[in-house]
Amino acid sequence: MHEITLVTGLFEIINEQVAAQGIESISKVRLKVGELAAVEPMTLAACFEVVAEGTVAQGAQLEIEEVPLTGRCRGCGERFRIENFSFICPACGGGDVEMTGGRELYLESLEAKMTPPGIPSSSGRRDVDGGVEDMSNLDMQRRPNEATT
Ligand SMILES: [Zn+2]
Repeated sequence: MHEITLVTGLFEIINEQVAAQGIESISKVRLKVGELAAVEPMTLAACFEVVAEGTVAQGAQLEIEEVPLTGRCRGCGERFRIENFSFICPACGGGDVEMTGGRELYLESLEAKMTPPGIPSSSGRRDVDGGVEDMSNLDMQRRPNEATT
């Protein structure tokens, strides 16, 4: 049960991105998770939801791409998918197999909305507690309903 640790680490990266790029909200988070990373996608998604609450990633879709366990035979160079943890080369039957994939665990990409210049925010999102208060900086660029008649 190390999913919460992973999610916490993930959010450290996300927060860095948010600060560096002026991200307003995140709609999708893509993760690559190796078969051997021992991560339960359902648990990971649940943890993500909890940690994301109240952040720019709230309500973001978590996409988990599972990377299959793959290996390369050191004897003949054959690359193959390792199934049932059988580290035996299907080509030559050798057992000297180097793992080439399946242990990875990283943030593949973020789908985020940057603070749009001059476009008034029209998101109908409502926070249950507190409400959204960060819309005021957009008003500096365009004033809604300015009297012209
Ligand atoms: Zn081989």
